[in-house]
Amino acid sequence: MAYKITDECISCGACEPECPVHAISEGETAYKIDPAKCVECVGFHDSPKCAEICPVDAPQPDPAHPKK
Ligand code: SF4
Repeated sequence: MAYKITDECISCGACEPECPVHAISEGETAYKIDPAKCVECVGFHDSPKCAEICPVDAPQPDPAHPKK
C-alpha cells in the first residue's frame, strides 16, 4: 500500500530528500506522496522512511492505494 501525507503535515520538508524513489513533493498546503511512485521503502529501508522521520506522524498507509 502506498503512503499518504495527512493534514497533520507542517510542511517542514524533512521527508522530501529522504524518499528513495522521489515520490514526495511540496504541495500547496502540505507535502504529498505520489502513490504511483511510493514503494513503502521496500528494498531501501526496514520501514517507510518518511513515517520514521516525520515529527508529527503525518505519513500514514493509504487504503485507497493497496499494494500492486
Ligand atoms: Fe510534512 Fe512530516 Fe514531511 Fe515534514 S516530515 S513535510 S511534517 S510529512
